[in-house]
Amino acid sequence: MYMYSKSLEERCNRILRDMEGSLTARDRVGIQDFVLLDAYTSESAFLDNLRKRFHENLIYTYIGTLLVSVNPYKELGIYTKKQMDIYMGVNLFELPPHIYALADNVYRTMLTETNNHFILISGESGAGKTEASKKILQFYAVSCRSTKLLDNVRDRLLLSNPVLEAFGNAKTLKNDNSSRFGKYMDIQFDHAGGAVGGHILSYLLEKSRVVHQNHGERNFHIFYQLVEGGEEDLLRWLGLQRTCQHYSYLVQLGEGECAKVSSINDKSDWKTVRKALNVIEFSESNVESLFAIIASVLHLGNVTFLADSRGYATLNNSPEIHWLSKLLGIPAQVIQVGLTHRKIEARSEEVLSPFTVDHAVYARDALAKAIYGRTFTWLVNMLNESLANKDSSRKTVIGLLDIYGFEVFNVNSFEQFCINYCNERLQQLFIQLTLKSEQDEYEIEGIEWEPVPYFNNKIICDLVEEKFKGIISVLDEECLRPGEATDMTFLEKLEEKMAGHPHFITHKLANQKTRKTLKRGDFRLVHYAGEVTYCVSGFLDKNNDLLYRSIKEVMRQSKNAIIQNCFPTTEPDSKKRPETVATQFKSSLVGLTEILMSKEPWYVRCIKPNESKQPGCFDDVLVRHQVKYLGLMEHLRVRRAGFAYRRRYEIFLQRYKPLCPDTWPNWKGTAIEGVELLVRHLGYKPDEYKMGRTKIFIRHPRTLFATEDAFEV
Ligand code: ATP
Ligand code: MG
Repeated sequence: MYMYSKSLEERCNRILRDMEGSLTARDRVGIQDFVLLDAYTSESAFLDNLRKRFHENLIYTYIGTLLVSVNPYKELGIYTKKQMDIYMGVNLFELPPHIYALADNVYRTMLTETNNHFILISGESGAGKTEASKKILQFYAVSCRSTKLLDNVRDRLLLSNPVLEAFGNAKTLKNDNSSRFGKYMDIQFDHAGGAVGGHILSYLLEKSRVVHQNHGERNFHIFYQLVEGGEEDLLRWLGLQRTCQHYSYLVQLGEGECAKVSSINDKSDWKTVRKALNVIEFSESNVESLFAIIASVLHLGNVTFLADSRGYATLNNSPEIHWLSKLLGIPAQVIQVGLTHRKIEARSEEVLSPFTVDHAVYARDALAKAIYGRTFTWLVNMLNESLANKDSSRKTVIGLLDIYGFEVFNVNSFEQFCINYCNERLQQLFIQLTLKSEQDEYEIEGIEWEPVPYFNNKIICDLVEEKFKGIISVLDEECLRPGEATDMTFLEKLEEKMAGHPHFITHKLANQKTRKTLKRGDFRLVHYAGEVTYCVSGFLDKNNDLLYRSIKEVMRQSKNAIIQNCFPTTEPDSKKRPETVATQFKSSLVGLTEILMSKEPWYVRCIKPNESKQPGCFDDVLVRHQVKYLGLMEHLRVRRAGFAYRRRYEIFLQRYKPLCPDTWPNWKGTAIEGVELLVRHLGYKPDEYKMGRTKIFIRHPRTLFATEDAFEV
């Protein structure tokens, strides 16, 4: 709760204008908080309001304190310094909705209540999550207390973004700048509100993109940035040519015509990344090693194998091997053997077993993915070192969660399975923290309440992650049977175990009508956000993520400092089974849930207005679907039926007792009695509030505003 400086009259006028405003204005721009108007409980009315506002370039709307954002796909000029100034220190409901208003309220609540918060930004791919998280970070960078030292932290926080995006984002069919990793970032503040540090957690990078992209998609941005923007000397040193088309990992089988994307300027992005690496204080030698690795991956992709007379893979002493040897600091001969053989144990002896050509290609790609994936982890660790707050005094944090959105392509694979599972988990968290906890609280507090029905997606989370029974467990089981299990045996096991589950369908299990829409190698999950059909091909392989021990040993000989760090000699050997990718991901999501559960939640729900990335185009069917699965109507119903504010009696009394002669200065009775006297004195009407067991519940923010203003009268 905050003190306001504006006059009561001015504030009341504004609130009235916002809520009841003149009919014509409202007709044109809609209302800015769905909670405030009675008519907006139907889905069509909800949609009408969003559409009206969207066409007026008003992309933000509240449902109470939840912010709904519709991607405008154009620059709106609403993210200026002037706008930031307007929103600083102003209550959420006093100005038109904005991401800055939310950011500012989170910040000030954190300062007054000295507790930790997080902002969960969700929505499907291309809905605007990453943009929203950048706007929030930029707002804090400008609005926070500033000193020379703090400015340095601020710059690092801001510049970590272009670096991570260069290495972790890529063009997909859904989004030209799609996040291919999950990101949770803590911004740490000192007691005076200065940003003193940060910490980033990254989740499951989509490594398979390094070696393969679907038609119309690209590899990670950094490859194109280096090839397009790298200085002549640098490219010469790395042995690279300035044509993306030259590199098979960038142009696959004639599919990669999209090396150039009109919305992306690889050259200028390269400059930004280079500058950022300097500010973040990467040493010149680290930067060199980093680009040597990116170039090595490109060279590796161009390594091709020939079959010898027995069908085994051989390598000519090709220029690629020469460059790999130079850039990774490993003798060419060692690389050559490593790429064409693996060590196997035969009667307590290690012998070299040659690869077939297919096998060698597989091992090469596995190495490229491993190098890139581990380098990405190294990069995040380096950023964290640079962002670490050296001062151990008490801090509070605001966490920003920007994770890959729900995805449905024509062909969906293991990656989409993981991404969509992650979104199920976040939806479950949202349900637990908002719908369920809200209704539980009314029950605990003994407040009369008509429960709002909502779809609880726990059943889908369980289907995927339940121990021994879930899809991940079945997948892991199959991964333990090398040589025997295949993607198809995995599917058969799923069919056996999941038969009859309302959210799991396959060709075999489907009814006649649905069967036509499924192939034999597919399974379909009925996600909370819609149906997705996954093709099982590659599931076992991607979940195993095998890298042969012998190729790891080759990498351990590297003179490249980052590779040395990524392939440490102390790494447990492959004799002990590492956790599978899906299981690791599941554990990391459990960890993330724990982090979030310990903080106060705020939400930004992003909506994608159309599939063609067009400004001014609002596709009703598409938006309606998102409104539905994001649970916005349920959230609105709970909010409307519920109470915007609640405070423990002690806290409420402590704050407002100066307003009532019966409680001021020394109230001797119980807190609840004191509050009863207080609200009677303040003239609260019976329908404006309810008294629970330990808390007072206030229906509208305006009641609280008026009480705050009573201090000034
Ligand atoms: P993904 O899950 O694929 O990472 P995302 O939700 O993070 O998707 P963004 O990358 O934030 O999506 O947004 C996609 C594109 O939409 C941006 O590159 C930008 O062009 C446009 N966009 C998003 N939000 C805004 C905004 N507030 N103003 C203008 N353009 C926006
Ligand atoms: Mg994103």
